Amino acid sequence: MEHFCIYGGTFNPIHNGHLHLIRAACAQLSFSRLLVIPTSIPPHKAVRDLASNRDRLEMARLATAGMEKVWVSDIEQRARGKSYTILTLERLRAIFPDCRFTLLMGADMLESFDRWHRWRDILRLADIAAFARNEGEELLLEQKAGTLGRTRVVRVEPLPLSSTLVREKVRRGEDISGLVPEAVAAYIQEKGLYRT
Ligand code: ATP
Repeated sequence: MEHFCIYGGTFNPIHNGHLHLIRAACAQLSFSRLLVIPTSIPPHKAVRDLASNRDRLEMARLATAGMEKVWVSDIEQRARGKSYTILTLERLRAIFPDCRFTLLMGADMLESFDRWHRWRDILRLADIAAFARNEGEELLLEQKAGTLGRTRVVRVEPLPLSSTLVREKVRRGEDISGLVPEAVAAYIQEKGLYRT
């Protein structure tokens, strides 16, 4: 049976913490494909500091180029309306009816998961694999996993980075070369993203 991992996020921009999670998933989970899915923003809604759909997609592609089994998908950006995980899952299920799905997420997302739109339906269609973002989060993660069910915690040394930190550094004109892959840093520079 095919098994897809689904890794959704704003990816504004994708950074080494995201890639660390992807590499840990590749090393510790067995699956046929890992889909990185940047969320969409409605075209009429310019959010300060949020790069366009196309730029976020492109940076995700640059960052994962050459990673076997990893695909960047624009499924949420092509869809109308809000990027709800359940809708994406239902769409994927319609295309791949015999596929098993696992959602990948960091600790912050798992923490808020039972406030997501139709979260119980999500758990009917998919398992969850959760990853710590900071030292010392694993106990809380394990507890939450136990309450939700269908959730496993993937043990990996955390890499505490955020897109917010990357954007702040770009705004201050600081070096981001240790935080994002080289190709992403070059893209941000060339397009003048996150400067204001
Ligand atoms: P922002 O700082 O803009 O809020 P972010 O760094 O949290 O962004 P997102 O694109 O919102 O990044 O995250 C997408 C997914 O990746 C979420 O499930 C989040 O928990 C996870 N994630 C983000 N950073 C890390 C990290 N350093 N380690 C593990 N998981 C992470």
